[in-house]
Amino acid sequence: MIFLRSSKKKCHVGFNARVILRIPSFFNSGLGDSIFYICRMNSTVDKTDIRALNKAQLKEWFVAHNEKPFRAQQVYEWLWQKSLKNFDDMTNISLPLRNLLKSHFVINHIKVDDMQRSEDGTIKNAVKLHDGRIVESVLIPTDKRITACISSQVGCSLDCTFCATARLKRMRNLNPDEIYDQVVTIKQQADEFFNRPLTNIVFMGMGEPLLNYKNVLEAIGKITHDEGLGMSAKRITLSTVGVTKLIKKLADDEVKFNLAVSLHSAIDEKRSKLMPINETNTLDELADALRYWYSKTKRKVTYEYVVWEGINDKREDAEALAKFCQIIPSKVNLIEYNPIDDGPYQQASPAAIALYERILGAHDVVVNVRRSRGKDIDAACGQLANKS
Ligand code: SF4
Repeated sequence: MIFLRSSKKKCHVGFNARVILRIPSFFNSGLGDSIFYICRMNSTVDKTDIRALNKAQLKEWFVAHNEKPFRAQQVYEWLWQKSLKNFDDMTNISLPLRNLLKSHFVINHIKVDDMQRSEDGTIKNAVKLHDGRIVESVLIPTDKRITACISSQVGCSLDCTFCATARLKRMRNLNPDEIYDQVVTIKQQADEFFNRPLTNIVFMGMGEPLLNYKNVLEAIGKITHDEGLGMSAKRITLSTVGVTKLIKKLADDEVKFNLAVSLHSAIDEKRSKLMPINETNTLDELADALRYWYSKTKRKVTYEYVVWEGINDKREDAEALAKFCQIIPSKVNLIEYNPIDDGPYQQASPAAIALYERILGAHDVVVNVRRSRGKDIDAACGQLANKS
């Protein structure tokens, strides 16, 4: 974070003479951040996005404008719990106060730019962010659940060779409200199209969530808070490719949500070819981070794993995975692969999947074979690439 002095006398929320501009720190991990106030300006009009303020800051603003501090609570509820997009709809706020808010703030919201429905019911949203960039989020319906698959970054910097998102490169991290709004959108779609509640959230969309650590955790904080969506953290899973120092930080931060690791190979040489991050975050280091995670949280981890023809479909691959699974209590999801246009990878044969199931079963590892959803609209795992 870098603090810059504004040329104006007052910041747009009325705090002294200083406007603090937000510059992402290293990987936006939040490590070493000491910022206490953020002034996020709207790019087209010179107003602040009101949702960049926390409740205490909102309260300060009201007091600074000779208003009762409880107004902050009312406005905060409209903004987060009710996800209001317009000051005029804040019916318990007087007209003069609404006008004052409008003269200082905007409410930035994502917009669904395109929505596609798969023949299996999956919905893929291309959502437009405040700066016009697009990310994708997916509603996945099954008999028992409705799951929201959420993006955390525009593009991705990690170059996993099997992933369509990697081709987009990383453009920026999503703000907490942009992450939150994806969940709100899918919650509304679950209600509208299925007449059922949203039950689960997975951070498996575009981007590596741990490389947007601070914003992802802030968004989850709001999703789980009673003054937000009030969802249980146990229904949320963050999936990482294995950024080891940040897995340890999650444990230190005592998060209550679930952890999944995209593993895809338990042999260093192969994994590094599939996922270049493995060169700097090796399997040994990953194992060490997972031991730390388990020692602090006592919660098991899920390994996401795709078996590709000719890549990791041999007995030695399955045995290496079974051995890795002994590090801490875990389970394995074997995920069906969805080829991306000209990519070299193909889903392994049913016999290879059965081999994995046999070997993992023999080592008492719980394994689920997961069929991909939304393949016909490029909404399946690894296919999110803004093609709609
Ligand atoms: S798999 Fe995840 S971390 Fe790897 S390139 Fe794709 S989005 Fe990024």
